[in-house]
Amino acid sequence: MKTILVTGGTGFLGSNLCRRLVKDGDNVICVDNNYTGSLDNIADLMGVSNFRFIEHNVIEPLDLYEKIDQIYNLACPASPRHYQGKAAIFTTKTCVFGALNMLELAKKNKARILQSSTSEVYGEPLVHPQSESYRGNVNPIGIRACYDEGKRCAESLFFDYHREEGVDIRVIRIFNTYGPYMNPEDGRVVSNFICQALRGENITIYGDGNQTRSFCYVDDLINGIISMMNARDGLTGPINLGNPHEFTMNELAQKVLNLVQTNSQIVFEPLPKDDPTQRRPDISLAQKELGWEPKVQLQEGLEKTILYFKDKIKEA
Ligand code: UDP
Repeated sequence: MKTILVTGGTGFLGSNLCRRLVKDGDNVICVDNNYTGSLDNIADLMGVSNFRFIEHNVIEPLDLYEKIDQIYNLACPASPRHYQGKAAIFTTKTCVFGALNMLELAKKNKARILQSSTSEVYGEPLVHPQSESYRGNVNPIGIRACYDEGKRCAESLFFDYHREEGVDIRVIRIFNTYGPYMNPEDGRVVSNFICQALRGENITIYGDGNQTRSFCYVDDLINGIISMMNARDGLTGPINLGNPHEFTMNELAQKVLNLVQTNSQIVFEPLPKDDPTQRRPDISLAQKELGWEPKVQLQEGLEKTILYFKDKIKEA
């Protein structure tokens, strides 16, 4: 039985990961300050014997009495609505100090540590699809920079701790992911479109809707994250994890409208600054090294996510 720390454990990905690790029989310590995460997301895990929640902000160092075998560092606001609001400085701090503090903890425990990096390190990509060797095109002073550059700095810290301190690291770059336990209010496109459709509100497409994203269903992503953590020695990454099927926001809106009975109309709103035009992962490295690729198609994933949000909206 491994003892595993998950930072950002009450967030969307973190809570899905904790649930899976608890089910697999690991001893799971979930750490979060609940800034964007929510205790609701782990309500079913509270009281389970191999699960423990600690309220903590990873900007501060963390000391634990038990020996940790693995750390998944997922803590960070991830939605543009959150990190572009009043939380830009906080987001950079979470990325950078959070990485430093968790790397120190990994060093002390001789634990393996996985960093959840992001497709945002590619910025407005000039290469399509994006492979790990592409160094990106990020605006360092733009409104997305706190997240993009914060995550880039965290990657460099991970590799420096690996080279200078011998820490056993893994870096994954996560592309857009959706599914149950997303926060209905977090402003991301899949949750927005579905919740708007369920509430009969206007579906808000930003810009002309021709920008693209590639959407990965959360269960596929969690399988990829766990495979990477437990893959062969020396496989540091970075490695892309995401679904290579690319859709425009117009196509996504249409798919949601086809699945939800609603009177909602599509409306077009201004495109936020620095919003990437296109994004699709090249996942050949993950296929080769992990034997991993997404299995859930957008249609099936959206159906499951709609069911989740139907209940969530009813509860509210
Ligand atoms: N988007 C949209 N309507 C919304 C929310 C987002 O058209 O209600 C667009 C957004 O401008 C972007 C894409 O959907 O082009 C994905 O946005 P999201 O915030 O989900 O993720 P990210 O931009 O970080 O990939």
